[in-house]
Amino acid sequence: MLYRKVPKNGDELSILGFGCMRLPIKEDGKIDEKRAMSQVQYAIDHGVNYVDTAWPYHMGESEPFLGRALADGYREKVKVATKLPSWLVESREDMDQILSAQLERLKTDHIDYYLVHGLAGEIWDKMKAFGVMDFLEKAKSEGRIINAGFSFHGSGEDFKRIVDEHPWTFCQIQYNFMDEKNQAGTEGLKYAASKDLAVIVMEPLLGGNLATPVPPEVDEIWNEAAVKRTPAEWAFRWVWNHPEVTVVLSGMNEEAHVEENLKIADEAYPNSLTEAEIQLVGKVEQKYRQLMKIGCTGCQYCMPCPSGVNIPECFDIYNDMHMFGNVNGAKFTYAIRMSGVFTNTEPGGFASQCIECGQCMEKCPQSLKIPDLIKAVAEELEGPDLEQRIAMAKQMFKKDKL
Ligand code: SF4
Ligand code: SF4
Repeated sequence: MLYRKVPKNGDELSILGFGCMRLPIKEDGKIDEKRAMSQVQYAIDHGVNYVDTAWPYHMGESEPFLGRALADGYREKVKVATKLPSWLVESREDMDQILSAQLERLKTDHIDYYLVHGLAGEIWDKMKAFGVMDFLEKAKSEGRIINAGFSFHGSGEDFKRIVDEHPWTFCQIQYNFMDEKNQAGTEGLKYAASKDLAVIVMEPLLGGNLATPVPPEVDEIWNEAAVKRTPAEWAFRWVWNHPEVTVVLSGMNEEAHVEENLKIADEAYPNSLTEAEIQLVGKVEQKYRQLMKIGCTGCQYCMPCPSGVNIPECFDIYNDMHMFGNVNGAKFTYAIRMSGVFTNTEPGGFASQCIECGQCMEKCPQSLKIPDLIKAVAEELEGPDLEQRIAMAKQMFKKDKL
């Protein structure tokens, strides 16, 4: 296992972190405790020292599971990361109450790496107004948390603002070779590192989409490589190639994945890919873009839509569904992201809210026929089961769990 240093505190973190968001589950949808526990402990026995969870994962069961998995001496071997569920916070007191509940769930007296969950510009402003900065500083002075950070899903501009507005030790961003210009992106990664923040990367495989099975056109390109690697290994190695990256989280749930990822993490040094290999990854990225149904670059010029449609997000999820074929995953993501249950920004940004005013079309540098395309998104991603999916999303992020 390789380790990389956290600039502000000198911690040596394993470059592979265990993400407890997609643990193995049983037929009834509950965590398969025996398998999950042996996978987490096996990873720790083989050098993983960063374990990440969050309040809503596995419908609230991930944190208590991790508390049990880290009994018998494992707690002392790892840094535990969990997150303040920003969508549940309605007052300064809520934050203390939630943290106390998390310490209890995790059976520990401190969280090593504590993140404000899922920030974007508006949510950060809301959290500041509720006193999140005072909360973090106080929790640190009491030793209930050791390091403060945030996870992020907003625009590049908001990312830099949030980095600058608090003395964070670390941040967590979505990053993979398809997301260089999406959300924080490469610019955000470099910016955070220039401010001495450790950067934890989530979604290195874009929700598993960059791993097998990949489209045959993409497979053909991977086969051109002189050194043979699986698509997952290429994706991981591309992220680890960046010296600014500290830890890459992997939501592992198959014993074979744990084994494979541990092996890659033994040798994924920064700047270890050759120029030819980087170009090959670029070729794969271009091929995926060609396979995209809608040529939206995510530039946001069309926003805001007067009817509240989140145009770039709608296109992003729609493209992912067509590129990777994961229809159910895309439909559930659409229900979560468009209903606003996660970000507390209801009524949300559904494609069906479009009233065909045409304003967005005038602003789109790609000259996309947005009203027609948005209609296609509504047809394919909504449908009669949308309410049911929204109800499931609400259950996942519900307030009465406090
Ligand atoms: S055409 Fe539809 S998506 Fe575009 S701005 Fe008008 S309401 Fe929004
Ligand atoms: S302006 Fe066009 S390219 Fe830019 S986000 Fe909107 S739809 Fe996409």
